[in-house]
Amino acid sequence: MRIIAVVLVLLTLAACAPSGVTGGYGRYTSDYFGLFDTHTLFIAYTKTREDFDRYGGIVYAELERAHRLFDIYNSYEGLNNLKTVNDNAGVMPVEVHSDIIELLMFGVEAYEKTGGAINIAMGPVLRLWHKARTDALGDPENARLPDMAELSDAALNTGIGDIVIDAGTVFLKNPGMSLDVGAIAKGWAAGVAMRAAEVAGLESGLINAGGNVIALGRPMERGRDSWSVGIEEPSADGTRGLIAAVPAADTAVVTSGGYQRYYTVDGVVYNHIIDPETLMPAARHASVTVICPDAAAADMLSTALFIMSRERGEALLEEWGAEAVWVAHDGSITRSE
Ligand code: ADP
Ligand code: MG
Repeated sequence: MRIIAVVLVLLTLAACAPSGVTGGYGRYTSDYFGLFDTHTLFIAYTKTREDFDRYGGIVYAELERAHRLFDIYNSYEGLNNLKTVNDNAGVMPVEVHSDIIELLMFGVEAYEKTGGAINIAMGPVLRLWHKARTDALGDPENARLPDMAELSDAALNTGIGDIVIDAGTVFLKNPGMSLDVGAIAKGWAAGVAMRAAEVAGLESGLINAGGNVIALGRPMERGRDSWSVGIEEPSADGTRGLIAAVPAADTAVVTSGGYQRYYTVDGVVYNHIIDPETLMPAARHASVTVICPDAAAADMLSTALFIMSRERGEALLEEWGAEAVWVAHDGSITRSE
């Protein structure tokens, strides 16, 4: 509840109306921190500040609801979330909200469509990397990689077929398994949040939830028929300029990169996106940005393409009718057709 109080203050502080704005609309922005362990920006063109605050409230409430449902680290009183599901692996089925069912079914579909590159049952492996990374951030001198034997053991407990979804419940058959929906949840949640604002009447807005951008309509400014979404230079030193811009109207633009969540061992950077084939961080590309009207698919695809070869990625894009921008380690930029 403390988070909500802070956000309301931020919402009421935000206001500005640049000169090009048309038709009695104003452009408003607000910032949130803390949801999905990341920064969220909401921009909208509305007739009044009260309208903006109302839409912002809806977006934030939806994101927070999803954040709690998909949280694997924290429990919330009276709520069965993914931590509850993980805690009951091998014990019993857990009754969950239909949004959890929907997201997990999407996760299983993602596994099938990506040939296993995206695996929401990879919790045991991801946990070892997460622990090594957080330990290292607290104590960089002693940064180390997870032990490969431990990773291989953990990988034995990542069977997607051991997720049993039935009549509003989820059961993890294998007591050693656990779910991690980090690759798909933010896009899914941001898509749901934007849809809720649209249903409530929002015509023109943009959410950026930690690199998951959803653009609704077009900016209400003279001469603009799309939003412009910048792609960051994927450098790890914090001085990130924009190296490309993607025009977006009624679509999602999602970037996965190795340059934001990572740690360093002996001068080598290890990011948070793990290739299930090697159990090591994917290192093929510096970043991949996916443009796709379906926000959940865009999030899933950006992680998948970050892991995959260019060729496999192109084929997957075609299946989903999506586009992508790859940034290579030498800074060169290439695009799908
Ligand atoms: P971000 O969270 O930085 O926006 P992504 O959408 O690319 O980035 O998701 C990365 C997260 O997905 C990781 O933090 C981890 O929780 C999870 N993850 C990493 N590799 C995989 C994978 N191969 N399959 C499924 N989930 C993964
Ligand atoms: Mg993703």
